[in-house]
Amino acid sequence: MFCRPALILPTVDETPLGQAMDGKIRRLPSECRCVNIKKVSTNSGGDERKGVNVSKIPIVGAVISGLTAAIILAREGHEVEVIERRDGVGGPARDMETGERTYVMADGTPMELEKISKYVGFDISPPTMPIRYTRIVAFGKRYDTYFPDNVPAVLVERGPRESSLDMYLYRLAVDHGVKFTFNAPVKTRKDFDQLPPDTILATGLFRDTYEALGIPHVRVYGYIAFGLRENWGGPPVVLYIDKYTRDYAFFSTINGMAGALLFQRGIPLSAEAKEWFPRRLMEDEGIEFLEWIPLDVGVLPMGSLQNPRLFHERFILTGTLAGFQDPVLLFGVHGALVSGKIAAMALRDREGAQKEFDRMNRFWKLSFLNRKFVEYTFPYGLHLASRLGMELYPYYYKYLSRYSFVFIPGWLRV
Ligand SMILES: Cc1cc2nc3c(=O)[nH]c(=O)nc-3n(C[C@H](O)[C@H](O)[C@H](O)COP(=O)(O)OP(=O)(O)OC[C@H]3O[C@@H](n4cnc5c(N)ncnc54)[C@H](O)[C@@H]3O)c2cc1C
Repeated sequence: MFCRPALILPTVDETPLGQAMDGKIRRLPSECRCVNIKKVSTNSGGDERKGVNVSKIPIVGAVISGLTAAIILAREGHEVEVIERRDGVGGPARDMETGERTYVMADGTPMELEKISKYVGFDISPPTMPIRYTRIVAFGKRYDTYFPDNVPAVLVERGPRESSLDMYLYRLAVDHGVKFTFNAPVKTRKDFDQLPPDTILATGLFRDTYEALGIPHVRVYGYIAFGLRENWGGPPVVLYIDKYTRDYAFFSTINGMAGALLFQRGIPLSAEAKEWFPRRLMEDEGIEFLEWIPLDVGVLPMGSLQNPRLFHERFILTGTLAGFQDPVLLFGVHGALVSGKIAAMALRDREGAQKEFDRMNRFWKLSFLNRKFVEYTFPYGLHLASRLGMELYPYYYKYLSRYSFVFIPGWLRV
């Protein structure tokens, strides 16, 4: 019933929704016009960076965490330049087997909007949509799980459309005078060496930074589809946990756009898994996409128990790159906002920022060990944990759900 052609949107989108809905697959330019990193005007950092407005601060990566840091620093009076590898702002694009594409997605996360807005210093609510319930299918059994009142959850659109969180942050950054240099990938060791000290790196799940700087990581394999239609009906989020992946698969929708992703870290998806998820979505929910694409989701900062780091070599890290993503369910939006502020703070108060970083990410190691348990006992541990969690949900959700999300960096701590 919900059939729409798969959709790939251009990276920089001034495109109204109507045009995007023509269903045509658009490919991004395959070659980036690389600019010499030296052209990005920066000072040498160091001593000159004592007061306000004495330096142009470079930030690499123009999405949630990078833009949050940029807005905060610009508000403090700094000149900020954001360097982005793609030709515009547009959410978590990945390098794919078929070439680079930008995709749209609805990201869901628990988030106390007032608190997080106060924390970062600007209103986060405009691009968010409240979400009351999620359908979870755990090892074949279906559960409709409602979020209790004390767990406000939201969906945000990701991608290059005007209605996305990414574009909302971009507009705010532009309003604050932040400068952007697009088509400027910082990829190799040599590129990084050209950046001044205290450059903020916000390159998310893209692998170049991890490899160039030797940050432990694990690869993620995905299978993805997108579509646009006025109303998708049914629940806004449907999540599948099963023996086909050590992670999970989900469908989510916001503003008429929907995405479905099956993924697994560390091990490529089997042909059986790729057949299973599209079939389940169609048989259970009537959701069908015309095209499914193998996706290199990128890498995750979960190669070691020591992964989270605010400082690495001469750089300040933020967002997913800094390890601000919970290792089990991989919620990254909340942490990206929180860590954007911490990165901005790190420029003037390293010690204070480090303390804040540790406080916000306090449960990361515990969550990492939980994940290891799932991997070593797969599929039995996952089966048991998910079925138990779901069967007991009606008894504990009002009291405990709030605390079961403490693994999300910053949740209940902003
Ligand atoms: C398919 C998918 C679904 C997800 N769903 C959810 C969800 O439902 N809920 C949730 O909370 N989280 C979700 N996440 C995780 C979340 O999207 C990320 O954690 C979040 O986007 C991280 O933000 P970030 O600021 O760290 O970087 P990103 O959003 O990854 O952005 C990094 C930016 O840096 C740029 N960049 C990268 N490398 C370079 C370079 N070498 N030079 C210059 N620029 C560069 C990129 O082009 C990009 O603009 C999902 C992730 C994916 C991939």
